[in-house]
Amino acid sequence: MRKPTADLAPREPVADALGRLDAGWLEGAQRCPSPNFDARPVDTEVKLIVVHAISLPPDEFGGPGVEQLFTNTLDPAAHPYYAAINHLRVSAHFFIRRDGSLLQFVPTDARAWHAGISCWRERERCNDFSIGIELEGCDTQPFAPVQYTRLAALLRVLCAAYPVEAITGHSDIAPGRKTDPGPCFDWTCLRPALGLPNVACGPAPATV
Ligand SMILES: [Zn+2]
Repeated sequence: MRKPTADLAPREPVADALGRLDAGWLEGAQRCPSPNFDARPVDTEVKLIVVHAISLPPDEFGGPGVEQLFTNTLDPAAHPYYAAINHLRVSAHFFIRRDGSLLQFVPTDARAWHAGISCWRERERCNDFSIGIELEGCDTQPFAPVQYTRLAALLRVLCAAYPVEAITGHSDIAPGRKTDPGPCFDWTCLRPALGLPNVACGPAPATV
């Protein structure tokens, strides 16, 4: 059941509201557990964070479609597009809405099913060693400034907890197959907010 909208409003300052990771769950995120995950391979460290964009229905914001997709509760009759995707068993670790509210579906220590067939620095199966963050967005509308603020705060927590080497887009690890986070995602907005000069951040080839 969703909380009232007022409870989802981002608290200020955003960075302080996120808290710490507790057994892979972020204190400042609304928990929305997904069954779509499994264990990472033994002795596999998190080296990569993958930025995605999604909106359900496509190009519409604010509805429950993304949470429903990631929890296998999407109603195929609710929208014509849903009949083609409701069979998917997918997830991401996090989802950042247009208002900056943050949801978590899978603990960060587990393997979420977000990247699919993918390759980063000649290493395949990026789900094994990555954390996936979905932003509510599409290819034609700018992301909200608060989404960058929230994303940067989340990335700082994750990069402090894991030996992350790079942050890149889904389209960069699955070129030709995926286009998200898409042309409206502005890496130049993210880098200064991030403040992590030793983590590569941007489209491949990722630059520090
Ligand atoms: Zn994606």
